[in-house]
Amino acid sequence: MIMTEVIPIKLAYSRVYLVKENGKNLIVDAGLPGKSGLLIKKLKENGVNPEDIDLIVITHVHYDHIGNLACLKEASKSPVLVSEQESAYLIKGKSPVPSGTNVFTKLLSGIGKKFNPLNGYKAVKPDVIFSDFGTLKEFGFSASLIPTPGHTSGSISLVFGSGEAFVGDTCFRVYNRKSVFPVFANDIPTLLKSWRTLLDSEARIFYPGHGNAFGRDLLLQSYEKLSLKYI
Ligand SMILES: [Zn+2]
Repeated sequence: MIMTEVIPIKLAYSRVYLVKENGKNLIVDAGLPGKSGLLIKKLKENGVNPEDIDLIVITHVHYDHIGNLACLKEASKSPVLVSEQESAYLIKGKSPVPSGTNVFTKLLSGIGKKFNPLNGYKAVKPDVIFSDFGTLKEFGFSASLIPTPGHTSGSISLVFGSGEAFVGDTCFRVYNRKSVFPVFANDIPTLLKSWRTLLDSEARIFYPGHGNAFGRDLLLQSYEKLSLKYI
């Protein structure tokens, strides 16, 4: 039987996840910049030294998901997996500001796009580029890789055989606890199609990039409500 253990690591408002499976260690995302010391400390508290990391998967390349990636890659020498679309940004160390989905974030996004359209960060050369549905079998993990565009066009999710899913910013669980609608998304109808894909997968527990884990029911409720408006 496969045992999958999920350890959320909170770095300010972003989440990094340590997933232990079959004696191997996978990291999902690398959190808000400037927190690499704290991240490594928390990994060690959970029995994982940087060199014990087998794979780093990046759900999408926004600065609050890859802030400590350069440091973590350097310390762990672990391969970094990212989608093809997102890899172009990661190599340059610059990603476009996403669009807001509510009054406040639309305003924020508008200001960002006008004055500072590209968020800069330390560039990283990815090792594994992913472009379609696939698995992490070759790395020893039970997870499927699923393209979940919408928040960004290259966003991906990971669904483990145990039903645990890592969805990056495809779902948010921060401001409105009755919905998992992200406060930023470039393409809302596409995002909702990605939600449908996740609902049709084996995913049962969802771990977002921001906020606490939630169950399938909350995603289904959010999907039914928003699909009336956007699809
Ligand atoms: Zn994001």
